Amino acid sequence: MHADRLAGLGVSPGAGYGPAHRLVRDVPEPPRAARHGGDARAELLRAEQALERVAADLAARGDQAGGEARDVLAAQAMMARDPDLAARVAELIEQGVAASRAVFDAFAGYRELLAAAGGYLAARAADLDDIRDRVVAALEGLALPGLPADPAEPYVLVARDLAPADTVLLDPATVVAFVTEEGGPTSHTAILARALGVPAVVGCAGAGAIPPGTPLLVDGSTGVVRLSPDEDEVARAVRAAEQSTALLAAVSGAGATADGHAVPLLANVGGPADIAPALAAGAEGVGLFRTEFLFLDRVDPPTWEEQQDAYREVFEAFSGSRVIVRVLDAGADKPLDFLPPPAPEPNPALGERGVRLFRRFPEVLAAQLEALARAAKGTSARVQVMAPMVATAEEAVWFGEACRAAGLPSAGVMIEIPAAALRAADLAAVTGFFSIGTNDLTQYTLAADREAGALAGLQDPWHPAVLDLVALTAAAAGGSGRDCGVCGEAAADPALACVFVGLGVTSLSMAASALPRVRAALARHTVDDCRRAAAAARAAGTASAARAAARAELPALADLSL
Ligand code: PEP
Ligand code: MG
Repeated sequence: MHADRLAGLGVSPGAGYGPAHRLVRDVPEPPRAARHGGDARAELLRAEQALERVAADLAARGDQAGGEARDVLAAQAMMARDPDLAARVAELIEQGVAASRAVFDAFAGYRELLAAAGGYLAARAADLDDIRDRVVAALEGLALPGLPADPAEPYVLVARDLAPADTVLLDPATVVAFVTEEGGPTSHTAILARALGVPAVVGCAGAGAIPPGTPLLVDGSTGVVRLSPDEDEVARAVRAAEQSTALLAAVSGAGATADGHAVPLLANVGGPADIAPALAAGAEGVGLFRTEFLFLDRVDPPTWEEQQDAYREVFEAFSGSRVIVRVLDAGADKPLDFLPPPAPEPNPALGERGVRLFRRFPEVLAAQLEALARAAKGTSARVQVMAPMVATAEEAVWFGEACRAAGLPSAGVMIEIPAAALRAADLAAVTGFFSIGTNDLTQYTLAADREAGALAGLQDPWHPAVLDLVALTAAAAGGSGRDCGVCGEAAADPALACVFVGLGVTSLSMAASALPRVRAALARHTVDDCRRAAAAARAAGTASAARAAARAELPALADLSL
């Protein structure tokens, strides 16, 4: 008898109800002793063609999906085209090993390397299994197990973890929720679920044992998954979700609290593909343009001419509005081949990343700033530029000087490192504005790698220690008349968004799909409500107590089913 209730981490809010459909990878392991018939050249050609077919298919799926999914899948296609992997496959085939077994073994070696590297690379090891299965299936003439082609009714997708290739072309009208056994708040499943607006629960122990077809009610806000709920429970959840959608749709316009305190609501974008959803959701500008997403698959630094076009497209779409561009944030979870750290790093998240890499490659920063300055000239967007991973005032000064030399007067810094938050007053004296990156700030405050699913419980921006750092930063910014936004994933949590406003944060930037919820939450609470919620959260001893204490001061969230 299976439990009737499982709990995981709610990473994409909303309720979804439908039968469980389990995505199982059952591409069988090719036999260890599989040998080819003797024509190594022909066998190698088969292997190369299968690898290329899979790479091209992944890239095509990404192009079709656009946005962040395109970048994720382009990175996967690159893995399938890795020359070292191809060389290992060739070596094994040369020794008489059949193509499918050679691919299987070569991927196993690649996987070990990634796992040993730790951090972002280790987290990508699961993606490798997906690519391997696709190549083996192509070589063996097997159909890849996947999603029902023509489902009779909307369903809940249950999986160990979802590979980007599984999720990008999903239709939110057919898949009502995701439940995965693995994954944390910054896993691909979480990011893509939020982008699609599909409720999702990750890190849900026991999900693998849910019998297929079991009716599931998934709450992507609380992380609770109910198995075979009774009709009343489903009816209540569906009614609440419908009411919430109607209430959210009724709030529009610029972000503001119930008593009229303006809080600009901005969008996080990774490139031109994210413009349309951001505009449709009423974004008042861009609070974080993650420029590295444009160049994930590049081995040579992009020239300023190449960069200019992509930047101009975003600026023109937001003419008259604020667009905050983050210069390339390379390293750790976002490695760029053309901006590598000098040597393999034992702890990439603590290594030469973000602004630190620009100290080593100033010419790459100069080219990017030149492209931004030129793109900004032709538009009326209010372009601001910020540096990631700034730890010291000295780095902020260096970056500001580089921006001004390029003709970009508005330069700011991201606050992602506890040292920067603790000494925010020193930074405020030498920079134009702050944008708090709560993803990294949480990672460094709790010393919990954001890519490590097992540490998901610690990667909680509600932790009072993180809130204290946000409070210090906002106070320092306020004291010197500087803007202080939040652009990490935490800004997309309606309750936390209110807490941030209560702490003195002046703008919020998030995935476009989160804007309606945050807009509605702010519109139902006054600045004083937000301040009380912030004080209650900071007075709590744990993340979950902080969340509960803040919500108790924000009663309208429950009316909105948020
Ligand atoms: C952050 O760290 O919160 C942030 C917004 O930057 P990224 O997630 O791209 O590191
Ligand atoms: Mg960051």
